[in-house]
Amino acid sequence: MDVEAYGALLPEITESNRPFWDGCARGELRLQVCDACGSHRFPDGPVCPRCLSGAFTWKATSGTGRLWSWTTIHQRYLAAFADETPYLVAFVQLDEGPFVVSGLVGEPGELRLDQPVRAVFEPGAHGRTVLKFAVAPVAVRR
Ligand SMILES: [Zn+2]
Repeated sequence: MDVEAYGALLPEITESNRPFWDGCARGELRLQVCDACGSHRFPDGPVCPRCLSGAFTWKATSGTGRLWSWTTIHQRYLAAFADETPYLVAFVQLDEGPFVVSGLVGEPGELRLDQPVRAVFEPGAHGRTVLKFAVAPVAVRR
């Protein structure tokens, strides 16, 4: 991986998103929760997209969700991922409601729609711990 190129792709840490990134560094998926209506939101924002309240609290979530869709990237679109192809990108609905697009750890052959996934956190040489998802362990029947 081209560490410098990858680091340049990461969002700037701001006062608004710092709790999310601090959570990642601690192995927690933190989201803003509206104090007025209780809905979770991602990405962070100044007001609730559901009720427009500006009052919110950052909270750690379950880190679990369901696989809505995924794709395998074979093309080397970005220098940062040139050594990573092929890799998986997932569209996940968290159990708390919001959708998140992120990297997916797993093998394409083991994926199915609505499959449970869980957040995993990968520390990188670029100095950030990045949220990804992994297929939740499935009990094997013998
Ligand atoms: Zn709200």
